[in-house]
Amino acid sequence: MQSFGETTRNWLEAGLGFLYPPVCQFCKTNQATAKEGYICSECWTLVRFIRAPFCDRCGLPFEGDITTTFVCTNCRDMDLHFSSARSAVVAKTLVLEAIHRYKYSHSLWFEEFLADLLIREAAPALRGQGWDFIVPVPLHPLKRREREFNQAELLANRLGAATGIQVNTKLVQRTAATLTQTRLSREQRATNMKDAFVVSKNVRLAGQKIVILDDVFTTGATTNACAKALRAAGAGDVCVWTVARGI
Ligand SMILES: [Zn+2]
Ligand SMILES: [Zn+2]
Repeated sequence: MQSFGETTRNWLEAGLGFLYPPVCQFCKTNQATAKEGYICSECWTLVRFIRAPFCDRCGLPFEGDITTTFVCTNCRDMDLHFSSARSAVVAKTLVLEAIHRYKYSHSLWFEEFLADLLIREAAPALRGQGWDFIVPVPLHPLKRREREFNQAELLANRLGAATGIQVNTKLVQRTAATLTQTRLSREQRATNMKDAFVVSKNVRLAGQKIVILDDVFTTGATTNACAKALRAAGAGDVCVWTVARGI
């Protein structure tokens, strides 16, 4: 599978290099190659990696000199099913635009950039910690058909290749064609996502440690619903990793 993926990737890179001039796809001015994910070094400085202090549970970063571990007020009010959620970078400016264009405009050349951000932060944290599977948040089959790919799955494959953790796309299915979350409040998002995921009937989990992977973490409603289904089916520790996080 991997060699097939690699071959496809090489073809894709060769194709992109042929189709697109080596120009930064964000500022459209400076030079940037396919290998650099078409983001120039100047635009790269807009990337904000998430650094401590942050909420121990959901990873929300805070300003200031907090040195002890703490849990934010959102997490205290929520019934959370994952043990921790972490993200590589803040979902703003360049990163947010790259994710939107990657997802909704088929700007697949941004995958290199987004996967790079994710792998830099997630791979060292996950390697050698006994995680059994990476489970990308599934799309509803209708949405998947419409978009033609699941961005979480593509990013999960990249992280799986970097860490050696098996990617499992068969474990969880999305049962409900949920509303777009963008305009919903925190409470509405949680209700909208309730029971949106189900673990495949023929699967029995026995304490496996699972990493749920998605592109963006906003209120955590989606990943939390996914974690709930996995825990109910017998998963052990469930954590969440995303490329970016809303703050
Ligand atoms: Zn640029
Ligand atoms: Zn929190």
